[in-house]
Amino acid sequence: MNTVYEINFDWWSTRIDEYENYVWDFLCDQHRQELVNFESCRDTVFDLIDVNTGLVSSVGAVEYYIRMHCFDSNCSIKTGMTMIDSMFLVLFANGNTPMTVKQLAAQIGRDTQSKTISRMFSGGKIHKGITSRSK
Ligand SMILES: [Zn+2]
Repeated sequence: MNTVYEINFDWWSTRIDEYENYVWDFLCDQHRQELVNFESCRDTVFDLIDVNTGLVSSVGAVEYYIRMHCFDSNCSIKTGMTMIDSMFLVLFANGNTPMTVKQLAAQIGRDTQSKTISRMFSGGKIHKGITSRSK
């Protein structure tokens, strides 16, 4: 199976408010507080270098913080977090590098649940903008 999954930002483009709130929740307490205290920071644009490709992209403060500081697959994916939220976070924190169901399952610590994840994705409903793409 070569199907890979990624966050489809076109899907989110019609739900910008929801998107901002959703992503905001992935910040750690410290950075959330910082962005609340220094509201102007939220509009700051940061350069982020992809360690794999060397490509530089410009990202907003929330994304920058999550990718560079807040995300740690060992502790950011909390017990009780839904499968979809965990997968969204993994994709988001990895710069939306497309992943197979197997890779996603491993990343969120649910190696044995690939089948459940596949079933969820094949249900026709788009969950949190995660869509498939053929490699
Ligand atoms: Zn943080």
